[in-house]
Amino acid sequence: MKVHEYQAKELFARYGIPVPPGTVVTSASDAEAAAATVGKPVVVKAQVLVGGRGKAGGVKIAKTPAEAREKASQILGMDIKGETVKKVLITEAVDIAHEIYVAVIMDRRAQKPLVMGSADGGVEIEVTAKENPSAIQRVWVDPLYGVHPFAARRLAMALARDAELAKPMADIIQKLYTLYDEVDASLAEINPLVVTTDRRVLALDAKLNFDDNALERHPDLEAMRDLDAEDEGEVRARNEGLSFVRLSGNVGCVVNGAGLAMATMDLVKHYGGQPANFLDIGGSSRPEKVVAALSIILQDTSVKSILFNIFGGITRCDDVARGLVTAFAQMNLKLPVVVRLTGTNEKEAREILRQVPAIHPAETMDEAVKKAIALAA
Ligand code: GDP
Ligand code: MN
Repeated sequence: MKVHEYQAKELFARYGIPVPPGTVVTSASDAEAAAATVGKPVVVKAQVLVGGRGKAGGVKIAKTPAEAREKASQILGMDIKGETVKKVLITEAVDIAHEIYVAVIMDRRAQKPLVMGSADGGVEIEVTAKENPSAIQRVWVDPLYGVHPFAARRLAMALARDAELAKPMADIIQKLYTLYDEVDASLAEINPLVVTTDRRVLALDAKLNFDDNALERHPDLEAMRDLDAEDEGEVRARNEGLSFVRLSGNVGCVVNGAGLAMATMDLVKHYGGQPANFLDIGGSSRPEKVVAALSIILQDTSVKSILFNIFGGITRCDDVARGLVTAFAQMNLKLPVVVRLTGTNEKEAREILRQVPAIHPAETMDEAVKKAIALAA
């Protein structure tokens, strides 16, 4: 799960990481009012769950409240990488002397959290990694101890290159790690962490991603979820107990089991097609799940054919077949549906599916995938 910058900054503030004060608004007139309260130049910042807002024109400085109104009206409603801007953060503008990058992520290969820093902040870390990899400092963390004070100071010194500034910066690095650890984040990033011309150290941007599997432990964080900004299909799928990830192809896939779903997508690619989604209907196959899966896939207008690939174990093929019969009866399905069912109660399933002559049956996975690709063309 991702949260907006203003939400991440609320958590930063709770952990003692200094952030400039700010207000979130949804209209240009409220932006003007918020800027008037600040009484200084402000930055108007699009609140979207995608990065690179600055480059997209979603971060603008405004010297007066009237200018804040104008900038907010430009940014609100803007499309940034497919997401419509519905909220802007009005935050005190600061004079930047130096932009720094610092983040905590999980290094899966090292099986440890990793603190990364670069003295070239404000630039995407992927760009630094490519163009100036030696600028990136890395400190691996033993989760039993957290970030040792000496390690935080050494990193801070390398980033700030100033003994006086290294102290508050080391403090921020330790607090960022504590936050990352306590909220079960998968990423905690400050880009840029700035030194202002009056020598304050502040987090100007804040990015937090949470480990979805740990959210159960954090109902307060789950409440920060912005359903408006998330993919509608993915939200519905989560509510129906399905795992769904939208992709960019045209072959809709309904599969039981994550492994088989991956293998199915691989095979679609292998035969020259493009999967429109990953969808695992899970172990049980209540007919309602099949209907829900189909209606989620059908919301995507680029889908041109639907492929059911079911390996019946705990999932019973006849249940899936009943789900398909119900779906065809309830929904006005115009797209071709290819069905390959094998395993538990396969014979019964075939018998049931005879009621739906519109279905394209397939015996093997290869045959089903090839048919679905041909029908999507
Ligand atoms: P991002 O593009 O989505 O990462 O958004 P950021 O919050 O990082 O803002 C992008 C850039 O805008 C920063 O790297 C800064 O250079 C600039 N910026 C943001 N806030 C301020 C500010 O208060 N003062 C000044 N001068 N620049 C700012
Ligand atoms: Mn940033």
